Amino acid sequence: MAYEKAIFAKNLTYQMDISKVTARDICDALNVSRATVSDWRNAKKTPRMDKIEKLAALFGCRKSDLIEQRTETGKTVQQKTETGKTIPEKTESKRKLHKYAGGIDMTERYYQPEIECASREQIRAWQSERLVQTVRRAYDNVPYYRNVMQKKGVTPDDIKSVDDLHKLPFLSKADLRDSYPYGLLAVPLSDCVRIHSTSGTTGRRVMAFYTQHDVDLWEECCARAITAAGGTKDDVVQVSYGYGLFTGGLGLHGGSHRVGSLTLPMSSGNTERQIQFMCDLGTTILCCTPSYAAYLAETIIETGARSRIKLKAGIFGAEAWSEEMRQDIQNKLGIKAYDIYGLTEISGPGVSFECSAQTGMHINEDHFIAEIIDPNTGEVLPDGEKGELVFTSITKQAFPLLRYRTRDICVLNREPCPCGRTHVKMCKPMGRSDDMLIIRGVNVFPSQIEAVLLSKGYPANYQILVSRENNSDRLEVQVEMTPEMFSDALSQMSARERELVDALKSMLGIYAVVKLVAPKSLARSEGKAVRVIDTRKLY
Ligand SMILES: [Zn+2]
Repeated sequence: MAYEKAIFAKNLTYQMDISKVTARDICDALNVSRATVSDWRNAKKTPRMDKIEKLAALFGCRKSDLIEQRTETGKTVQQKTETGKTIPEKTESKRKLHKYAGGIDMTERYYQPEIECASREQIRAWQSERLVQTVRRAYDNVPYYRNVMQKKGVTPDDIKSVDDLHKLPFLSKADLRDSYPYGLLAVPLSDCVRIHSTSGTTGRRVMAFYTQHDVDLWEECCARAITAAGGTKDDVVQVSYGYGLFTGGLGLHGGSHRVGSLTLPMSSGNTERQIQFMCDLGTTILCCTPSYAAYLAETIIETGARSRIKLKAGIFGAEAWSEEMRQDIQNKLGIKAYDIYGLTEISGPGVSFECSAQTGMHINEDHFIAEIIDPNTGEVLPDGEKGELVFTSITKQAFPLLRYRTRDICVLNREPCPCGRTHVKMCKPMGRSDDMLIIRGVNVFPSQIEAVLLSKGYPANYQILVSRENNSDRLEVQVEMTPEMFSDALSQMSARERELVDALKSMLGIYAVVKLVAPKSLARSEGKAVRVIDTRKLY
């Protein structure tokens, strides 16, 4: 019985990946050399049928699993079909789950259940196959990748599975800026249909390009997030992220269309109109930055519109927010608030999203491979350790990123999730390695300060001022009081300040000056909040 070398090579690699059988094990069991196994995996040679039988026994699979064409679902078929690019059809479904902690029966919705709940083996097989293709394409089409890989002595032939990812060089934001605008484009510009761009607040803009295929996959990722937040075609989704070059607005907009919800393309700003539409059209899902959600919540309560809103969920991302801020928004609006994560460079929102468990965001691993590295040494850290998040996009055509350093400090969690999704979860970023403030030699993240303020009942309106006085760093935190606190006696206010100083000291390990200010006296932001003013950089 004849069979194809290439198909056998691919199936062999897949079986080795899922069964954890090593090349050494095969050498021992079949009495062959390492070079022979390597030739099999590179489709240079094939073994005789008696060896195939022994291999199948070793893997615990059928003979046909090694010599027949495999589809994306891991099954073998007799006929050849194009593999690799096919994304299973959208099949929105509800799945009843068994009882989990607390004995509550939970019903979870998925946009693409066959992908979101695929087996770990299947996800790994997708990742390996797509990584190999992406590296090959990037090497062939992008001179930048070819150069850096050659410098490191790596060729596409060295990348055979996810296990080889660590061999590739890192890509930094500075590399993206240096390649501005077309340097990393992997397809002809005529194949691109869209660009998005970062705000450029911390330097030169970064521009990202999309083919129609890239836009489609991005929108599917956002549709998964909206569905996970309970969204259906019967929902009214108000997209109050900024539209335009910023990815927030158009990303969730596209996702909402895919789900079939009624989409309100509000963009950010004009709070009065936001609330009016929310009341008149019965918005059920709100998508915006968490700071704008907090601002909207405050205004909704003040204007007495709370009883007229029908919101059930919110999808909030694009900036750091704490667990306390989530509770605050949930309580004020009476909704469930879901986190969403993304970066313009990688595609936009929807790289990862929260499920009903609200214990981290599932990374869409069929499109992005995540790693955690030590930000100083670049060494890959084991799951569960804190470090810098690195992404490799494995399905993007126009702008593939290989080992992109996000600067987000994060932890990955592979514990099974009660929602039924099998994709790895990332925690809320704990700060950015480049946003981290070093104050009197201590690492301080603005998110730590926010957590303290919210735990003491302050609204999420604050500003962190860092300056230099007499050759020493000075940290000041200005915090808005609630109207109730503001009416307290002066003596109570200084007691409150002292309480915050102590709480900050125990969280950060350093002394901070605390100033309580009148409600609504700090500048409000309707886009991304500017929390930190560091004047030390002026010297
Ligand atoms: Zn989950």
